[in-house]
Amino acid sequence: MPTKTTCPSSQVSDDEQKQKRENTRSLTMSGHVGFESLPDQLVNRSIQQGFCFNILCVGETGIGKSTLIDTLFNTNFADHESSHFFPHVRLKAQTYELHESNVRLKLTIVNTVGFGDQINKEESYQPVVDYIDAQFEAYLQEELKIKRSLFNYHDSRIHVCLYFISPTGHSLKTLDLLTMKSLDSKVNIIPVIAKADIISKAELQKFKIKLMSELVSSGVQIYQFPTDDETIAKINASMNGHLPFAVVGSMDEVKIGNKMVKARQYPWGVVQVENENHSDFVKLREMLICTNMEDLREQTHTRHYELYRRCKLEEMGFTDVGPENKPLSLQETYEAKRHEFYGERQRKEEEMKQMFVQRVKEKEAILKEAERELQAKFEHLKRVHQEERMKLEEKRRLLEEEIIAFSKKKATSEIYQNQSYMASGSNLKKDKDRKKISNAQVLEGGSKRASESMRAGSLVYRAQLEGESRRARESLRAGSLSYRAHPLPQH
Ligand code: GDP
Repeated sequence: MPTKTTCPSSQVSDDEQKQKRENTRSLTMSGHVGFESLPDQLVNRSIQQGFCFNILCVGETGIGKSTLIDTLFNTNFADHESSHFFPHVRLKAQTYELHESNVRLKLTIVNTVGFGDQINKEESYQPVVDYIDAQFEAYLQEELKIKRSLFNYHDSRIHVCLYFISPTGHSLKTLDLLTMKSLDSKVNIIPVIAKADIISKAELQKFKIKLMSELVSSGVQIYQFPTDDETIAKINASMNGHLPFAVVGSMDEVKIGNKMVKARQYPWGVVQVENENHSDFVKLREMLICTNMEDLREQTHTRHYELYRRCKLEEMGFTDVGPENKPLSLQETYEAKRHEFYGERQRKEEEMKQMFVQRVKEKEAILKEAERELQAKFEHLKRVHQEERMKLEEKRRLLEEEIIAFSKKKATSEIYQNQSYMASGSNLKKDKDRKKISNAQVLEGGSKRASESMRAGSLVYRAQLEGESRRARESLRAGSLSYRAHPLPQH
């Protein structure tokens, strides 16, 4: 693809150019050498390679985009009718290979599907902007590759945007202004008034003037046909005055006189697509395809792509001049950038280290505080436990004393109780006395032992006592019965 790779004008200063011109001497040759065939060589090479051209059609669904493209290239691209109910705008690209004489054209038509059908208008134009940027980005990536193949690369950058305006006769819609404003620095915009056959000639003229003044007042830059080439300057200048073109599209053919022409037939007459009194279709075709296709391609590369590339590289930190406006080579910029990056990385590492140390210190202080609190709590509990233990020891001692006193009292009371039974029987009494005395001795001895064994001893003793007293009562009852049976003789 014969793309010009000129440097951005900012790179080479006017002074440098002047100096170069002064260093170059103009000479005449005494005979034919042959480099006059260079343009032919270029043409041949280009024809061999073929050309590529990419058109973006932006406009509401049903405005006549597909019909116009079919009419422009005089073929049926068989684009399906689009629905109005897509939730998002989608860009549909289709590439075709066309031949005319011995020239091959790789034509890509990109259509905006669902444009203007959403309530949120921002969602309508943003995908278009993103698509154009994506094509620039793909080209830039190919350019930046070590092993690049731009020679046979399929360039998908958009060369022209045909912007379809509704033939309302009023003014531009907000969406149209917003979209064109966000696209004008990225692509060559050619505005067209679609379906121009549905607006009267007088209204159309007024509408054109109004549209142009709205575009100018909104600061929208549309594509201007170039006037720097003498051969086409006149026609291009006059065509610039006809913008925006009012077009009619149709693939239907109607017989006019003895000729079949593309037209739209109505009950009241025929609108001929190629009749300049009926529409600007021919002007558009001439300007777009015959006269300015190469300029559109060149403008895309040298203006729009260069701007994208410059912004992108600057974003990445590359620059042509260093501090004090000194020119910087790519290598120097790279080294400076690398240096800056390492410095930044070291600074960040240092920052992170300091932050880590600070965090550790903070954590340590928190842990130490927690440990101190725990220790204090432990000491407190230990003290409380000690006091509790001493209190319990005291209680135990008192209880043991009480038990001893109680046991003594009990033993004495048992002795008194036994003495009262002595009258009941001497044998029994002697026995009992002995037992009680021994029991009392046992109790007395036992009271000096631990409280538990004392209590156990006293229980055993009480059981024994009860046994004895029961036996005593029974023998008493038996004695009284025998006395009743054999009473002593009364004197
Ligand atoms: P797209 O959705 O924008 O691609 O619109 P189409 O090209 O599919 O056209 C939608 C309808 O508009 C079809 O019925 C076409 O016949 C009709 N149409 C296309 N161009 C014109 C035109 O210039 N004038 C009029 N009146 N109708 C047109």
